Amino acid sequence: MTEHTLTVAGVVVDTRHWIGGERVASAETFTDVSPVDGAVLGEIARGGPAEAEAAVAAAKAAFPGWAGTSRAARARVLHAIADGVEKRLEELAIVETTDNGALLRSHRRGVMPRVAHNFRFFADWLLSLDHEDFETRGHTNHVSWDPAGPCVLITPWNAPLMLATWKVAPALAAGNTVVLKPAEWSPLTASLLADIAAGAGLPAGVLNVVQGYGSEIGDALTSHPDVRRISFTGSVPTAQRIAGSAAANLTPLSLELGGKSPLLVFADADLELAADLAVEQYDNAGQVCLAATRILVEEAVAEEFTRRLTAKASRLTQGDPREEATDLGPTIHPRQLEKIDGFVRRAVEAGARILLGGHRKDDRYYAPTLLTDVAQDSEIVQEEVFGPVLTLQTFTGEEAGVRLANDTRFGLAATVATGDRERAERVTGQLVAGTVWVNCFFVRDLRAPFGGSRRSGVGREGGTWSFDFYCDLKNTVTAPTGWNDHG
Ligand code: NAD
Repeated sequence: MTEHTLTVAGVVVDTRHWIGGERVASAETFTDVSPVDGAVLGEIARGGPAEAEAAVAAAKAAFPGWAGTSRAARARVLHAIADGVEKRLEELAIVETTDNGALLRSHRRGVMPRVAHNFRFFADWLLSLDHEDFETRGHTNHVSWDPAGPCVLITPWNAPLMLATWKVAPALAAGNTVVLKPAEWSPLTASLLADIAAGAGLPAGVLNVVQGYGSEIGDALTSHPDVRRISFTGSVPTAQRIAGSAAANLTPLSLELGGKSPLLVFADADLELAADLAVEQYDNAGQVCLAATRILVEEAVAEEFTRRLTAKASRLTQGDPREEATDLGPTIHPRQLEKIDGFVRRAVEAGARILLGGHRKDDRYYAPTLLTDVAQDSEIVQEEVFGPVLTLQTFTGEEAGVRLANDTRFGLAATVATGDRERAERVTGQLVAGTVWVNCFFVRDLRAPFGGSRRSGVGREGGTWSFDFYCDLKNTVTAPTGWNDHG
């Protein structure tokens, strides 16, 4: 370990920013703490307006060169980054787990392979991106996706590298340059990504990484006149602030925000499957934007379903996320734990009954919790907790179920458990959500549009939708006449 590095399980991580192809220190630092055991991992460069300015300037300077690089050459570099991720998969997995507390086995088997796939997918999609020319009175219309310019990408702590690369990959594929700002609670894998990208031949300044508190570096990035796109994943209040800051330049925004998604369980559902789907909502200790935290079960099967759910949830193993047998890791930060506990205490004061958990285990772990007897307009039903806390409500009849499901300010996702295909079609048609799963959960394909309705977001990314966002779409109309060669 030197002044500017820290070591996690033998992996050396540079703690400085990555700007214009160089490591840059800041006068100030912030402390990075592991949620696994509260150990101090090290001091991280704490950027402010000056670092934001330098990073955007580097991205602006590198833009013409990268935008002018052929699609095929850009795709080759993206594949090389994917190779680099695969080569360092084990290192990325242990660093991410140590930094954000999510399960090591998920990082190894699901998340980090998906990080590599993000680069491969958008590289390949770029090469097939096309729109057939069409004619208007003999004139040819040609649609192109032109690189837009420097993009600011801001990400949260709950799935740091997966969410960062889901933005970085299409932005780079599109021919843009990037300033990535990871969350201050889990900044480490973004720094490793900078090393991997440089090793893969990405030119200096095409990807820049700056670290720091959103309140200190955020505004300088999001109000910068040279920034052409902002893609943000995080909470609604931060999104509102960023939208205000971006308004000065009318910078286009993509916002992927919170949720309060429902799991609708109909009486005709396979109850064993439905209970499994409900237990999945405790994954990553409930720190998942898509989690269906409101369980809505049809009255006729409520008792039986609840019995199965509580039996399964009681068997979940909570503990060190590096252990293979662990199902639930810690909460990211004692402040988050405090927030979760506050939600539960206020719910109980308002009349909620605890069916499971309802308490912290120590200063990092919160027990998987299930609350019932909750009012539809109560805080616990309406607001995102972002912890392992589910509510259970009952309904009678399809219409009532759909009404409850849609009755929040959010619209990120919804899950439906039913054995009746016609009901599935009717219900999914009425749900307000960016993604709806029927008898399944968390099946994600990068070709699909992803995003939220209402307060859960603005815009969609994924497949061509990503390129629509990260590019300036241009239509070129060419006349059949006026040519010197008369051809
Ligand atoms: P957050 O909004 O507190 O922070 C997200 C990022 O924004 C961090 O990098 C933070 O430093 C930065 N930030 C804070 N203030 C800023 C400012 N003024 N200007 C610019 N950047 C600023 O969110 P969080 O607590 O890190 O993440 C949890 C939230 O993210 C939850 O609401 C969750 O639902 C949401 N989320 C959504 C998705 C999705 O795809 N829809 C995915 C994961 C998480």
